[in-house]
Amino acid sequence: MRTAGKKAQRSCLGCREAQDQDKLVRYVLSPQGELLVDYRMRLPGRGAYTCFDPQCIFAAIKRRQFERALKWGGESLDGQTLVDSLATQVREKILNLVGIARKSNNIVSGGTLVLSSLGKNGGISLVLLAEDISAAIGQKVLDKAGVFEVPCYYLASKDELGHLVGKGERSVIGLKTGSLAESLEVELLRYKYIVGES
Ligand SMILES: [Zn+2]
Repeated sequence: MRTAGKKAQRSCLGCREAQDQDKLVRYVLSPQGELLVDYRMRLPGRGAYTCFDPQCIFAAIKRRQFERALKWGGESLDGQTLVDSLATQVREKILNLVGIARKSNNIVSGGTLVLSSLGKNGGISLVLLAEDISAAIGQKVLDKAGVFEVPCYYLASKDELGHLVGKGERSVIGLKTGSLAESLEVELLRYKYIVGES
């Protein structure tokens, strides 16, 4: 039960540490008895939890904690499949947030616009770079963002970034300062952590 100022806490099946539920990954069993990652915490049924650390997922499997927590007959579980599924779901959330940012007019797109918005008062507080951005433009953006301490993350291709903001190819997207940029950065950090780029 949720009381004012106190969030529900759950323990990680891997390291056993208790944390706020929204800082953990939820898992449920499908009606077919398959273990599913329920990153958005929407699926019905009894839930089990781990940290975002892939090591905790592997540890939980090794010690048969999913079976215990979900009263599950169990099958052979592949940790990497769970980690991959988690990474996919976090990436979907990231792309979804970028789409929301676009619809709510919280996006600046294109190298020139992003460069001129960096450092402006109430400007942008997060930058996304296409993985296939040209080295020269990428460096320009990284340098200027560095001066103003605006974090930059590589994500998707120019084509995908453009598609997300309803344009042609885009190699740079800036997020205007605000809560959406903050939520997006939380997810980007999680994604990097899960896929092991840091
Ligand atoms: Zn853990």
